Amino acid sequence: MRRPFVAGNWKMNLNRAQAVELAAGLAAKAGDYGHVEIGVCPPSIYLEAVRQALGSSSIGLGAQNCHQEVPKKAFTGEVSPAMLVDIGCKYVILGHSERRHTFQESSQDVNQKLLAALAIGLTPIVCVGELLEERKAGKTKAVVQEQFDGSLAGLTADQVGKIVIAYEPVWAIGTGVVATPEQAEEVHADLRRLLESRYNPAVAASVRIQYGGSVTAENAKTLLSQPNIDGALVGGAALKVDSFLGILAAAKK
Ligand code: PEP
Repeated sequence: MRRPFVAGNWKMNLNRAQAVELAAGLAAKAGDYGHVEIGVCPPSIYLEAVRQALGSSSIGLGAQNCHQEVPKKAFTGEVSPAMLVDIGCKYVILGHSERRHTFQESSQDVNQKLLAALAIGLTPIVCVGELLEERKAGKTKAVVQEQFDGSLAGLTADQVGKIVIAYEPVWAIGTGVVATPEQAEEVHADLRRLLESRYNPAVAASVRIQYGGSVTAENAKTLLSQPNIDGALVGGAALKVDSFLGILAAAKK
């Protein structure tokens, strides 16, 4: 059985006080969701404040990105994986579509960051997903496969066993247009087949694949009841205690 995993990607939202309030509100309720693994990924400047607000709750702290160099170096403005560990992070989101498309990160960049994150013991949440025009052109499977192969290049089966994959169709992110459970499940099943063919059945059976893209408390239940959907990566609906808790409730069932 794969443990359901729901993570909130707060992107460049909230101020310090709001981030602390949200974290404290979630921390107070996290115990109600039993076996669901919960993560929050605030802006890096608020990681420390959010870590303190999470206190001793079971909610894991995550970052939204990192640089590919583990040790210190002269890279003005960057945050290293070692710094994320130092500040208490468990997870790091890599290859989010906003990084791929707005900041032109390639799968090769994602691969380097992934190797660096794994080397220091972070759990990477590796995002893949197609643009609307790619879906319309029938290229979803090929695009996702290319991002999967490029992002995971050179990883051993053991390393892949330590990652989480998030399928996030770009057209569904922040648009309110959620993939249907069938559309999402089709890609998740493809990803699981890829894990089996590139690595082995044990890896395929154990790696969690989250769905992301306009997940809400209302649509989470049908998405998360699909056999290959093991949780959610949530943007907008992760910014309010009640809506995020609603998604956790759906994951618990
Ligand atoms: C995301 O940022 O990864 C995301 C899925 O956003 P939203 O839930 O707002 O679509």
